[in-house]
Amino acid sequence: MDSRLPKPSREKLEAWFRYYNDLNFGEFYIDRRTMGKRSVKPPAIGAQIAEPAISLTARAAATASRIGVLPASALPVIQESSLFEAIDRRVEGDTLELIRENLGECTRCRLHKQRNKIVFGVGNPRAELVFVGEGPGHDEDIQGLPFVGRAGKLLTQMIEAMGLTRDDVYICNVVKCRPPENRKPEDDEVATCSPYLYRQLDVIAPKAIVCLGGVAAQTLLKTKDPISRFRGNWYDFRNTKLLATYHPAYLLRNPAAKSEVWKDLQKVMAHLGLKSKKTSR
Ligand code: SF4
Repeated sequence: MDSRLPKPSREKLEAWFRYYNDLNFGEFYIDRRTMGKRSVKPPAIGAQIAEPAISLTARAAATASRIGVLPASALPVIQESSLFEAIDRRVEGDTLELIRENLGECTRCRLHKQRNKIVFGVGNPRAELVFVGEGPGHDEDIQGLPFVGRAGKLLTQMIEAMGLTRDDVYICNVVKCRPPENRKPEDDEVATCSPYLYRQLDVIAPKAIVCLGGVAAQTLLKTKDPISRFRGNWYDFRNTKLLATYHPAYLLRNPAAKSEVWKDLQKVMAHLGLKSKKTSR
């Protein structure tokens, strides 16, 4: 997309392209871009400096239409000075046991002060599918297990609707200790804890990662965009397909969004070659 367009117009157009892409009009979008009816001059250098992420978005969206996956760079990336920093290399010979051992009785960020138990993660260490949430809540903090409260029960139903059990998948969070009053984890807490999540994902090496809610997706995709901007699309995370959908806690407050989540999960099922026992929710 021409980065010289005013930002509001660009965003509106991008939203429409995403909408048509969701409706499988991807080829329509590609053809329009590649028909070459007019040559577009490269944007002025000043424009590139002002809005580099948007042109990335447009290029990546075109690629996505073709191959069905968006690189994380399709989203406006946050600045390098951001606190969302995580390891950028795989740890040789890493294991989940070693990661848990390294974590120890962690006091690396302020979240340790009020926690009862570290919630490391649970499930199949060779899972093809990993769910990543935001952080433990009250029940999780007590039990030391992820997604065991009301939202967890809904997640279990979602997993079962996919024809799987909790033992088939792996479930973990961005931060391993409960934020007080279930607030969102702060940037520095995410930055401190998320390298352990990266290591977990590297070790498990799933075929698909489903981010539950904005924080998980924003952490792994290194963006501050709201989840409404990228929910339901495939992205690349270290050569693994990643899709973000709504957090089950959000669904408890907004049951009408369940159908959207089910559509997202059906995309995951198609990718994993799963057949559901249910046809709808
Ligand atoms: S949230 Fe993570 S980094 Fe912070 S204390 Fe808990 S385990 Fe350590």
